[in-house]
Amino acid sequence: MSPKLKPQYHAMKYCRFELADSALYGLVETVGGQEMITHTLDEAPEIGITTRARYMTPLALQEATLLPAVCPSKIVCVGRNYREHAAELGNAVPLEPLLFFKPPSSLLGHGGTILRPTAIAQRTDYEGELGVVIGKKCHKLADDEDVRPYILGYTCVNDFTARDLQNKDGQWTRAKGFDTFCPVGPLVTTGGIDPWQGVSVETYVNGEVRQSGNTRDFIFPLDLIIRYISQVMTLEPGDLIATGTPSGVGPVVAGDVIEVRVEGVGRLRNSVADQ
Ligand code: MG
Repeated sequence: MSPKLKPQYHAMKYCRFELADSALYGLVETVGGQEMITHTLDEAPEIGITTRARYMTPLALQEATLLPAVCPSKIVCVGRNYREHAAELGNAVPLEPLLFFKPPSSLLGHGGTILRPTAIAQRTDYEGELGVVIGKKCHKLADDEDVRPYILGYTCVNDFTARDLQNKDGQWTRAKGFDTFCPVGPLVTTGGIDPWQGVSVETYVNGEVRQSGNTRDFIFPLDLIIRYISQVMTLEPGDLIATGTPSGVGPVVAGDVIEVRVEGVGRLRNSVADQ
């Protein structure tokens, strides 16, 4: 048994993975230049303020069967939070954050396959984004309240979208909500990056860069987003916020491999297949 970890004070990286038919949280550490799962955690880090860690035979993160790194009660997304992305789809820059949901049933882990519902939708796009994981219940934050104590950590998100349905429906529940349309991971880091200072968000398709943005170009900074959401709904520990995608969105087809890279967090890789 290792000493108690205090994720709110010490930056740590963790993932969720499958081992012997169980879903476990794992502590990720760099060993010999490679990211390894070295301990299992007794509780979800967003719940366990003093989560205990048990040593395990180290397993390379790349070799683990990874599950979505989060178990949110809801996934709140921000649309059009980068000027160039709003412009590329012919939309005006919004005057206040534009919110929508993805259902938790759309979550997919690193390495999983995104399924295109080709009987219903033809154009399906990647959207690489910084994901924020809530660590503390949060409701009606005051304008001058510091949001950082409510943030547990950061991850990579692919806000996968059926663009034709988004245009057709007028609201986005179908377009954003199919099973597998929310890849997230490979891990959550509780520190080491500062979205206010700038974190690069890039998306690659089959190894070619398609999106290259930076969170310093957010229209609405993260503190404003969290306060804004908290006026409407209570954010619970483990809830996920997808902070919007930079310009360069585009379609993918079966056989493509998408990689979302968030600086200081990691690389989220998923393949695409037709359903
Ligand atoms: Mg998006």
